[in-house]
Amino acid sequence: MGLLSEGSPLSWEETKALADHVREHGVNQFINLYHRLKDRQGDILKWGDEVEYIIVKFDDEQKVARVALRAQDLLAQLNEKELADPKGVKSLWRPEYGAYMIEGTPGKPFGGLMAHFNLVEANMRYRREEVTELLAKDECVMSITNFPRLGAPNFTYPLAQPRPEDPISAARSLYFPDEAIFPGHPRFKTLTRNIRKRRGEKVSIKLKVFKDTKTKLPVEGAPPGEPDVVLLDAMGFGMGCCCLQLTFQACNITEARRLYDQLAPLCPIMLALTAASPIYRGYLTESDCRWNVISSSVDCRTEEERGLAPLDKQKFRIAKSRYDSIDSYLSPEGAKYNDVPLTYDEKVYKRLVEGGIDHLLAQHVAHLFIRDTVSLFSEKVHQNDNEDTDHFENIQSTNWQTMRFKPPPPNSSIGWRVEFRPCEAQISDFENAAIVCFVVLLTRVILSYQLNFLTPISKVDENMQTAQKRDACRKEKFWFRKSSKTTEQRAAKAQAQAQAKTNGKATLNGNGLANGNGSENGDQEEQQPLTNGTAKMNGHGNTNGTTNGTTNGTNDGADSDHTDTDDEENELFQLLSINEIFNGKPNVFPGLVPLIRSYLQSMEVDTDTHCTIEQYLRFIEKRAAGELITTATWMREQVLSHPDYKQDSVVSERINYDLLKRIQGIQEGKQVEPALLGQGYHSKTKTKDFIPPALQKQLAKNGCCEEK
Ligand code: ADP
Ligand code: MG
Ligand code: MG
Repeated sequence: MGLLSEGSPLSWEETKALADHVREHGVNQFINLYHRLKDRQGDILKWGDEVEYIIVKFDDEQKVARVALRAQDLLAQLNEKELADPKGVKSLWRPEYGAYMIEGTPGKPFGGLMAHFNLVEANMRYRREEVTELLAKDECVMSITNFPRLGAPNFTYPLAQPRPEDPISAARSLYFPDEAIFPGHPRFKTLTRNIRKRRGEKVSIKLKVFKDTKTKLPVEGAPPGEPDVVLLDAMGFGMGCCCLQLTFQACNITEARRLYDQLAPLCPIMLALTAASPIYRGYLTESDCRWNVISSSVDCRTEEERGLAPLDKQKFRIAKSRYDSIDSYLSPEGAKYNDVPLTYDEKVYKRLVEGGIDHLLAQHVAHLFIRDTVSLFSEKVHQNDNEDTDHFENIQSTNWQTMRFKPPPPNSSIGWRVEFRPCEAQISDFENAAIVCFVVLLTRVILSYQLNFLTPISKVDENMQTAQKRDACRKEKFWFRKSSKTTEQRAAKAQAQAQAKTNGKATLNGNGLANGNGSENGDQEEQQPLTNGTAKMNGHGNTNGTTNGTTNGTNDGADSDHTDTDDEENELFQLLSINEIFNGKPNVFPGLVPLIRSYLQSMEVDTDTHCTIEQYLRFIEKRAAGELITTATWMREQVLSHPDYKQDSVVSERINYDLLKRIQGIQEGKQVEPALLGQGYHSKTKTKDFIPPALQKQLAKNGCCEEK
């Protein structure tokens, strides 16, 4: 969940006193790193996912399921292989907030070959098996977004009781015991305590209960005057949820800024599509997603900052929690859609601008830096601002937004990256792989077809709220940008440009169209080895480029969607359903899936990878169309149709147990749930643990080899 510095945490009082110190040096560190790395060019596409898991323990006699507080012990074992062979392992394991959670990523990032899309699911499967081997028979590792009875009585194994009155308790929650917070690193309890202390009271997470015919009001623990609210009072209710994230590397900073912007409006859309968490503290709620829960769970703003008391001790009113949707775009094309006033300290902004940072990036960083540090380690207070970036990372990694703009780490071969963070964790590896591959493919189509999804930030914010409503995927509409060009027009243009630049070879690195500085020909040379293997298979690729290589990066803006010649604001942004966004609406938007399909026609893809991607696209197409239901809707249906359910919104121990058992069956491929995944989904993809030797040979012949 972010920076894990070694050392001893300072007390809240000490941390608070150093807030300006961290800010000042963090900003200097950013300025220095920016100048060191701003001209970095030619990084190839690399990408990887992060899946978070919950360890569940079943009591088959009592028919009870609990979260198993085993993460520390499991991680010690899982990390042994990495310690012995850091470069050779197929997976990496990291702690997460919950003492019952672990996070798994591939051992190394995937790369720029189409064949890499065929490795994701197998790698996810490997990770699940790797953990499963360490578990007892009655335990199970699950990629569920929320444990439905998290915070309900006796939800942990071993049993632990909350201690709300204990001054030493980090959370002081009525429901979530400190033992459920990961004990192996001080960051997690420190954040919990400091966020509570900074706010001046416990966090307050409010969810409307799903009102059924016999729902008892007030709900247990409801705040006065709000009888229909399920109240949660600890960081663990949000940070103890699992999500699915992905990070990809851009060829340079300009491409990273552009992709950050283009994906931001898709965050609420993907949140709605992946909705998977309708149950909290044992109650069915009106919400399908974790987002607002996690946002409130780390809301460290004081009453003054939240606008509940006149400003006195604090500098600003702050509109959102430090965990929320992004507040501003970073690319020049995005600037005009920054329609929500950004809060920042003028002095910090000025320092950044004087340090040579342009307006858009300066305001982004200044806005991140309105937050105080909430976790500081004594060994890290004094740093060399020319080399270290810990103070910058301290603030950056505790701004948990839908997108994260990640500068290269110091002294590494890693380039400018962008992280896509809204998606909820899905039950099966198939679904998680489908979502990840879909988003990575989308980034390629955005670059190649010069798609433009920019939507005013205020509308994206509105979409974030819409996305979380019950069954938003089938029932709600979202602000979406109209696109005047057809898929065919885009494909033709992309092809012409690709031919002009790369002798007709389509590459996963976006056909080199994304560099705003006109230097992509040079970059392309470097990218070629990794991407030759993706030369077109449909015949166009054989044309030897009509080397009128005059196109340069500046023509980004010449695309009609970018210049907005038809920019009649009301017309440009329309309310579309998830189905229309993914599958298209005539004369309004061609649809994300058809756009990807069109793009894929220009890529050389081996048959197995093609088959796998096709399964993923079909799954996404169907879920968007409502033919398949979201995990959230499926979970609701499981509860509502359970023989023990009493129409009172309560997810009892038994219902919870049966639901989780069913999920276990699905993830193991033993239980087919046609409404969720169609028939027999799990046997359909041709996912592989590695790129087959025959294909490797062929790629090598094309001058392309998999990175070792
Ligand atoms: P976070 O800061 O979000 O915790 P992680 O370090 O856990 O990020 O990594 C996120 C993902 O980034 C992983 O899937 C990893 O494989 C991937 N990754 C690692 N190196 C690169 C790179 N150079 N470019 C893109 N992704 C990378
Ligand atoms: Mg991570
Ligand atoms: Mg992450």
